[in-house]
Parts: sequence; structure tokens; C-alpha cells
Amino acid sequence: MAFELPPLPYSFGSLEPHIDALTMEIHHDRHHNAYITNLNNAIAGTDLEGKSLDEILSNIDDYSAAVRNNGGGHYNHSLFWTVMSPNGGGQPEGDLAQAINARFGSFDSFKNEFSTAATTRFGSGWAWLCKKGGGEVDVCSSPNQDNPVMPGIGCGGTPILGLDVWEHAYYLKYQNKRPDYIAAFWNVINWEEVARRYAE
Ligand code: MN
Repeated sequence: MAFELPPLPYSFGSLEPHIDALTMEIHHDRHHNAYITNLNNAIAGTDLEGKSLDEILSNIDDYSAAVRNNGGGHYNHSLFWTVMSPNGGGQPEGDLAQAINARFGSFDSFKNEFSTAATTRFGSGWAWLCKKGGGEVDVCSSPNQDNPVMPGIGCGGTPILGLDVWEHAYYLKYQNKRPDYIAAFWNVINWEEVARRYAE
């Protein structure tokens, strides 16, 4: 069973003004779709066909660069669409809020650390909030389409929030102003979905 492009759970323009419709359309329909096409081509006829993406990424050092880059790309973007929402923004509640406060002291302090991780990731990559053993959370970043599911990447654990800082994610609207895009992201974060992932 080949991997398939998951539908965007809202319309291309519904994250405006924070993320523009054309960026969302190109990002989802072309960039994400290309990762899936290339992933399917890379695993066709190999024993990776039929394995889950988590299984593949957890052992990624055994596989080719094409599987790493495109498998990571598929995983990362699939998460990214769901942790944003037209009704997003605000702050988390409940257990997730407690875990963030326990690790960072306050939501604002967490926000600062996550934004710094996203801003200072040189070149293309991602910033993450991860859930680790014991329910602790941590912030990290990773290059290219790597992610903390892969051995030895970032802070380990399971990503529950991710921000794409490749230029294709923001250049049409923000050009070189990555910090402005990162600041805008806080207005669209779907904390209900992040909390659902934390609770899993
Ligand atoms: Mn992307």
C-alpha cells in the first residue's frame, strides 16, 4: 500500500493573514506531494513496502538518503498541517500546559525557546516540541527533513508540535523575514491537536 497525500483539514486561505493561500497550496499540493511520490518510488519493490512510516523512521540509518529525506518530509508535513487551524492560537490547557510549565517555567518562556530554536536553525529544517519518557516535554530543531523520531536527532521522543522553517514555507509572504513568520505561527497553532498528541 503506497503512501498517500492526506487532505488539508481546512482551506488554503483559511490561515490568512498569518500564512497565505498560495503558500499553503504550493506547500501541500506540490512540496508534500513530491515527498510522497519520491518516497513511494524509493521503497517500491523493497521490503519497506507495507511498513509504517514510524517503523521506517525509527530505523532510518539502515536506509537510503532518498528514504530519509522523503520519509521525513512526509511525516513532518503530515504533522504540520494538523497542528495548525483557522481557530488556532492562544495557549494549551490541562496536562500539556502543566508539562510546559514544569519544563520551561511559563508559556512565554517556552514560546521564547521554541522561537529561538526555529530562528537559529541554519538553512532548512524544523523546530519541535517533543514528548519524552515520563511525560516530559522538550524543544529542539533538526536539519532538512530529519525529525526526532529518527535515532540521534534533536531531543528524541515524539514530536507533538512542529514548525517548518524551510524557505518554501514562508518566502512568498515573508521573504527573508523568518522571525516574522515564526511570530505569526503562534496565531494558528491548534493546541487541541497538540494536547491530543501529548495525551497519546
Ligand atoms: Mn515544507
